[in-house]
Amino acid sequence: MDSAEYERRIAARFANFDQDRNGYIAREDFGTAAKALLAEFGTPARSDKGQSLYIGAEALWQGMAGIADVDGDQRVSRDEFVTGAVKRLRDNPERFAEIARPFLRGAIAVADEDGQGATAEAAERALRALGVAPEAAATAAKALLDGNGRIATEDRVLAAFAAYFTTPEPEE
Ligand code: CA
Ligand code: CA
Repeated sequence: MDSAEYERRIAARFANFDQDRNGYIAREDFGTAAKALLAEFGTPARSDKGQSLYIGAEALWQGMAGIADVDGDQRVSRDEFVTGAVKRLRDNPERFAEIARPFLRGAIAVADEDGQGATAEAAERALRALGVAPEAAATAAKALLDGNGRIATEDRVLAAFAAYFTTPEPEE
């Protein structure tokens, strides 16, 4: 990967988190993400699934702020994201799993409409609701299927999520 491609990827990852597109990752972005996901599946915010998702979204924000909000202004700038989040998550993927697990668990539960595990179609809808481009969402959803045609275990989803965000560094 050359550095232009690396820059493009980082920008895309940042945009995934900056849901309201104001140039910063902040608590509101995680609330926006949770709300969009619940709306897509018609899940009430006050339901158990809704509450779990919001709690997971808050935990993800707190974790992100803890590793990346260096100046403590309660928002993560693009610079902080690149130097803080991306690098530190790459150095410590387990930490990332810990931070992201409650949100992902909540999201998987919301997308699991019949209690048998989320279908690829549901996973694709979930990713699109979170702002992932349609083609990337379809590819990611298919990659996460297990032998039963349902979305695989939480650990595999977490691993895929971590892999997506722990972008390799550009080759010189
Ligand atoms: Ca934002
Ligand atoms: Ca900051």
